Amino acid sequence: QDDLLEIRGLRTSFQTEEGPVPAVHGVDLTIRRGETLAVVGESGCGKSVTALSILRLIPSPPGRIEAGQIIFEGRDLLRLSEEEMRRIRGNEIAMIFQEPMTSLNPVFTVGDQIAEVFMFHRGMSRRDALEQAVEMLRHVGIPAPERRVREYPHQMSGGMRQRVMIAMALACHPKLLIADEPTTALDVTIQAQILDLMRRLKEELGMAILLITHDLGVVAEMAERVVVMYAGRVVEEGDVYSIFRNPVHPYTEGLLRSIPRLDEDRERLPAIEGTVPSPGQLPRGCPFHPRCPYATDTCREVEPRLEPLGEGRYAACHLAAERLTGEGVV
Ligand code: SF4
Ligand code: MG
Repeated sequence: QDDLLEIRGLRTSFQTEEGPVPAVHGVDLTIRRGETLAVVGESGCGKSVTALSILRLIPSPPGRIEAGQIIFEGRDLLRLSEEEMRRIRGNEIAMIFQEPMTSLNPVFTVGDQIAEVFMFHRGMSRRDALEQAVEMLRHVGIPAPERRVREYPHQMSGGMRQRVMIAMALACHPKLLIADEPTTALDVTIQAQILDLMRRLKEELGMAILLITHDLGVVAEMAERVVVMYAGRVVEEGDVYSIFRNPVHPYTEGLLRSIPRLDEDRERLPAIEGTVPSPGQLPRGCPFHPRCPYATDTCREVEPRLEPLGEGRYAACHLAAERLTGEGVV
């Protein structure tokens, strides 16, 4: 397989009163060229910290990348200078966030903000860059782009702002788009439109997408492979079809059971009993054991490692082998 980005042994910690506490604890993860890889888990599992580590956007202090490598096309991003990193951000790797209002600058027009990307990375004149900005707005389906290009972010709806963010992110045809909960703040109809747009642009541009979400419905629609994170670790990995059919890790099983179903006339099931432990207060043994219906004495003592199960599947669970051959859930 043709790997685009490989994370090896990433550990990112945050300074607390009790000392540095890892929010991401030894994560390995590979993104292949042109694929959509989803990273799922409840909030606080380390998904966003992993994404921000790739671009070296961890606020420091209190954050710090303590160990690991992030190999992007043969270069370890963690060893580049800040100047080299700036050339990669927004150019080869771009990112969009849940709430565009926080990443768009309220005092500049959307046209100026998109133009800025072309001026910085492509050395275009402001005039040419603004023309390109209009083209990008048209490309992401914003009506009347010649007029919209002169608007400020607050003059646009949430869905339009997310389109602007996508236009800005894709301006330089990145090889990797990191999308952190890109549709979570939008209503369902707009959400579907934005996901459609991302799928279309991905096909056109051939980029890879690292899609961070807590919503397995979005995963089913968008991704080819999925990585499940819990307590700063990868606990399961595999192709989407096979994981939905036979989740091996009990945490994945719980996440899948909490997907709302169209055919059920009831409230969304509670995700999984209990809460994600804070990184400073992980239990001994398997970090999931206090919430796991299958926990044994071994689970309370020994932390399981991520082990290959064949056919591109991995899980970190003492019961992985037997659960893989089982019938799976619902
Ligand atoms: Fe549950 Fe044990 Fe597997 Fe952890 S190792 S997920 S506690 S069965
Ligand atoms: Mg997050």
